[in-house]
Amino acid sequence: MTATTAVQAAYIVAALLFVLSLAGLSKHETARSGVVYGIAGMTIALVATIALAARDMTAAAVALLVIAMVIGGGIGLWRARVVQMTGMPELIAILHSFVGLAAVLVGWNGYLEVADPAHAALTGTLLHIHHAEVFVGVFIGAVTFTGSIVAYLKLSARIASRPLMLPGRHVLNLGALVAFVALTGWFVADPQRGLLVAVTVIALALGWHLVASIGGGDMPVVVSMLNSYSGWAAAASGFLLDNDLLIVTGALVGSSGAYLSYVMCQAMNRSFISVIAGGFGTEQAAGDDTEYGEHRETTAADTAALLREATSVIITPGYGMAVAQAQGPVAELTRNLRARGVQVRFGVHPVAGRLPGHMNVLLAEADVPYDIVLEMDEINDDFAGTSVVLVIGANDTVNPAAADPGSPIAGMPVLRVWEAEHVIVFKRSMAAGYAGVQNPLFFRDNTQMLFGDAKARVEDIVDALGAAEAATGGRALARAGA
Ligand code: NDP
Repeated sequence: MTATTAVQAAYIVAALLFVLSLAGLSKHETARSGVVYGIAGMTIALVATIALAARDMTAAAVALLVIAMVIGGGIGLWRARVVQMTGMPELIAILHSFVGLAAVLVGWNGYLEVADPAHAALTGTLLHIHHAEVFVGVFIGAVTFTGSIVAYLKLSARIASRPLMLPGRHVLNLGALVAFVALTGWFVADPQRGLLVAVTVIALALGWHLVASIGGGDMPVVVSMLNSYSGWAAAASGFLLDNDLLIVTGALVGSSGAYLSYVMCQAMNRSFISVIAGGFGTEQAAGDDTEYGEHRETTAADTAALLREATSVIITPGYGMAVAQAQGPVAELTRNLRARGVQVRFGVHPVAGRLPGHMNVLLAEADVPYDIVLEMDEINDDFAGTSVVLVIGANDTVNPAAADPGSPIAGMPVLRVWEAEHVIVFKRSMAAGYAGVQNPLFFRDNTQMLFGDAKARVEDIVDALGAAEAATGGRALARAGA
């Protein structure tokens, strides 16, 4: 078996592992093995690619490659170790920008290499195809690069998440696409450097403008959309580098990202085109309390008393649970209530938190059983018969204003928590959620606000339940028949 055949075989194994990884990641129970498959596939892919490339490289070049990998790998390990769960979306956005930048550099390298007479092995139709690949690769890469940087800046709150509403923005986007198509034809016929510079500049501006004009409310779709773009950018590089595995992997990431964007659009009741066109989510700033009436406050002790009388409880976690890192105490509270014979379930909104699956990851980390963690559609009809709903750090995803056609989040499906007998909202202030929209839930008659850090408040409730237990002589154990 030649070295090239061995590498091709390794690529097939790696591609299969990537498919298994995606399949594993689609369910809670198999997510861990999905990650292991992914790591194994990437290790095989890296080793095979480097071994193949190293055959034609000088010792000094191999040393440079190793140094670059050690530095890059070291930075990656360090960032992944220190990143907070709440910082994951930014990290992912910035990593997508690297894929985009790499695709731009690979594209430019592909052009310069062929333009150099010493390396000009391609002629005729093959040369035309090569130039089309260069142009498309640079375009997708540059859109991904600047789009991801703007997403990073918005998600990390370094710039406002408000949509940039330039006059004639749709014409600008459409004009950029038309220019790209026209320039591609021109470049294939006459590959001048100026045309490649022009498409690079147009694509950088388009990527920036596309994401800048998308409002805060649509950011979940933007994250998954950029995920998809980065996959297509990698696939474009795969064509240029003649690397089959990169094409397969890029296509897997591109299509799974596109599917995820579709799922996120459905969760927000938005069409993909309207998300790209931008402008949703922040037209109206958070209003003051007066027009909604007064809110009522409660304490951890009173909440514990309410929970002791409850027969069914639904917990709807949101971004604040991630900020407070309250998942451990929430899991403990769940165990405590279940031990008392209370039915406890979780209602997870598809865009709760700042990442697809954010809440599921946190709850799994805290060992909350998967079978009591339900999707919005599975639990939404059950709020009406529920004694107490604990809204832990969620806001936009439980906002009844979504039913108001005039609201900036109009049409977004939400968890109908207000249909329960009692609603306790855990948050630190009356501030609005990510979309910047005031939440009338806080002012409903059956809602009480439990202010403070969610982790501290849940711990207080667990303590109060324990204390009450001691005072009543072990009522829970009695109920459980012990
Ligand atoms: P929101 O972001 O709407 O609200 C979170 C709430 O948590 C805030 O009201 C905040 O109030 C409270 N909070 C913050 N820190 C704490 C703390 N330490 N203790 C207690 N409460 C705290 O959350 P949701 O999960 O309901 O909604 C997610 C939003 O994020 C949606 O608008 C979604 O579109 C968007 N988004 C989602 C992405 C995804 O992929 N899931 C990606 C990007 C955006 P206070 O400050 O008063 O404490």
